[in-house]
Amino acid sequence: MNLQAVFLDRDGTIGGTGQFIHPRDFVPYEGALAAVQRLRAAGVKVFAFTNQWQISLGNATEADFQAEFAGYGLNGAYVCPHHPDDRCECRKPRPGMLQRAAAEHGLDLSRCAVVGDVGGTDMLAAHAVGAVKVLVRTGWGEGSLGEHRAGWGHVEPDYVAADLVRRWVGYLAPVGRRWARSPPTQRHAPEGLLRRREIAHQLKSVFSSRISRRCTDCPGLPVRVPGL
Ligand SMILES: [Mg+2]
Ligand SMILES: [Zn+2]
Repeated sequence: MNLQAVFLDRDGTIGGTGQFIHPRDFVPYEGALAAVQRLRAAGVKVFAFTNQWQISLGNATEADFQAEFAGYGLNGAYVCPHHPDDRCECRKPRPGMLQRAAAEHGLDLSRCAVVGDVGGTDMLAAHAVGAVKVLVRTGWGEGSLGEHRAGWGHVEPDYVAADLVRRWVGYLAPVGRRWARSPPTQRHAPEGLLRRREIAHQLKSVFSSRISRRCTDCPGLPVRVPGL
């Protein structure tokens, strides 16, 4: 398995609404923790990474979140406790939490994936380190693809999914479109892109129980990221 690790956003991705929910009240979505177990069973490390600036206001503690995550069967959890005005290095869209995890666990982030509901934080952090990007439609996901699409418009997710475990649609379109235009004998995508597709498809095969018929395993499919 070339896929080394998956980073899961918490609010709107593992469960909840996308808004702050205190750990004592947080409820994971159906199937979310089973998906974590599937990944672990496949030898993939799984981490949570989450902005929790309410900690800076005293509305929860980092220990509260770590206690919550301890029950999810993860390899670890990274929590940014800072206020946006602190301009810390760990608050998404900055990739500080991903880089710290890479250092602590010996990860190549180009062989890792990020799943989140917010384009302007989760997808941009993933983009900054070259990780595979999966946007879920739960939480703020629909808004990320709609009214907030401009805030991350230069980045395309590799997958858009109904949620962690359902209806993953591939948008690895740049390679697919290029292949569609070129003669079969010249269909050689750059190595990095091919590896990226391999990583992405490994992720989907483990994580998602449903394979979309629009999957870009089939080069040339006219896929398009919603909102672009
Ligand atoms: Mg979120
Ligand atoms: Zn921070």
